[in-house]
Amino acid sequence: MTTPRILERKDHKISRHDIQSEALTVLYGLHEHGFQAYLAGGGVRDLMLGRKPKDFDVVTNATPNEVKRVFRNSRLIGRRFRLAHVYFGLTNIEVATFRALQNAEDSDDAQQPHFKMRDGLVVRDNVWGTPEEDALRRDFTINAVFYNIADFTLIDYVGGLEDLNARVIRFIGDPAMRCVEDPVRMIRAVRFAAALGLNIEQASSEGIMASAGRLALADRSRLYEEIQKLFFCGAAQAAYGLLRYYGLLEMLLPDLGLWLGRKPCTVRCRRVSDALKFLDDCKREGRTVSPALLFALLLGGAVETEAAEAIDRGTHAGLAIYNAAMAHCRRLSERIQAPNLVRQRTAEILGCQQRLVSEGGRRAEALASQPFFPEAVAYAEFSLRGKPGADEIMAKLRELAATHLPATGDERPRRARRPRRAAGAPRQRGPRTERTRAELDRGGETGMQEVPMAAADESQSPLPF
Ligand code: ATP
Ligand code: MG
Repeated sequence: MTTPRILERKDHKISRHDIQSEALTVLYGLHEHGFQAYLAGGGVRDLMLGRKPKDFDVVTNATPNEVKRVFRNSRLIGRRFRLAHVYFGLTNIEVATFRALQNAEDSDDAQQPHFKMRDGLVVRDNVWGTPEEDALRRDFTINAVFYNIADFTLIDYVGGLEDLNARVIRFIGDPAMRCVEDPVRMIRAVRFAAALGLNIEQASSEGIMASAGRLALADRSRLYEEIQKLFFCGAAQAAYGLLRYYGLLEMLLPDLGLWLGRKPCTVRCRRVSDALKFLDDCKREGRTVSPALLFALLLGGAVETEAAEAIDRGTHAGLAIYNAAMAHCRRLSERIQAPNLVRQRTAEILGCQQRLVSEGGRRAEALASQPFFPEAVAYAEFSLRGKPGADEIMAKLRELAATHLPATGDERPRRARRPRRAAGAPRQRGPRTERTRAELDRGGETGMQEVPMAAADESQSPLPF
């Protein structure tokens, strides 16, 4: 057992007034019931760095069931990590139980039903532990400092306070091993470095470099979540630079990686970097950004290249860009679980650009009430920058956007109600399923069309514009 470094209340700058009231209620509630209750993770890190935390996570020696007994307004969630969520209206506070660090040798399922590994990856991790063990299983030292509600001290088992002062990101334990265990940590390292302006320490940096290829094994839905956090953190351009440096971008988006090639500082690299700067600017200005706009900005250059090649082969310009957009969006979820609606919207944003900007924006009117129109206009703003006539086209598009309310296309098509079965009548399974599927394919009531992911060749393209 290691003796932690304890920083007294007077020696650090976190005050309980900085902590969200709901998190304080949870911390005090657990403390009053005799449990240890610490603020943990990003909340402590951000407060120490003088930033406003996005959320406050609580960690305790109470098991999830005990947490549930203390707070009636709570629910247990998660399989990989069993957690309690305590609800306060729309706010919820995540409460985790101290966990122990496990490794491959301990992963015999029969002996450890709460812990499981597959291909070196941790897929279930519910072995309760001590505060020290819990700190050791976290990703980075800066994420493993605890704030103790009992006496307002900071508890540090891993050198996190020192690293926060030095503004460095350091894996806890062996970097390469920690990346192999959970490859998503590499993306998290990049996010914290970009978003918080921290440096990744040398050994950690080497660990990421050596393990980048393992990202292909990571859970696709977690990767989708993480890359949204990464690119919407307000420092997408910096994050992109780091992803390229570590060879992580081509693991996330192989298509884009292929188009970019390995050489740094090419025109193509600058194009993606500028696109992400545009995204950062939008965020800073408080403008709406969406996953579909993000993917359009990322893939736009590659789509345009592919479309230009098709045009050279004699394909109509509008069809060429549409087909290229379709093809890239179909491959978008090779490594990340991008929802169909997002891929579809991305294809729409990119696929309509030719029509949007041709003839000085005059052909755009017919698109103005489409749900993707505002994002398509935002994309056009980026792609037209510095081009002749851009100001007039953008003025026209903005005017259209201001005067047309986009149709709401985000809802899922509603399922047709099954007619009530007459008493004694046999159940009808097949026809109902088929009808619903057909409705879904037509886009139901929303007018949205499923991206026909299997039919992208030019002759079959269902060009809806
Ligand atoms: P933010 O909430 O600002 O995105 P965070 O560090 O709080 O950043 P969370 O996803 O909320 O991120 O996770 C809370 C804490 O859980 C982290 O600070 C870290 O200590 C731990 N953690 C999260 N993900 C991992 C992981 N993949 N491996 C190990 N520990 C992790
Ligand atoms: Mg957090």
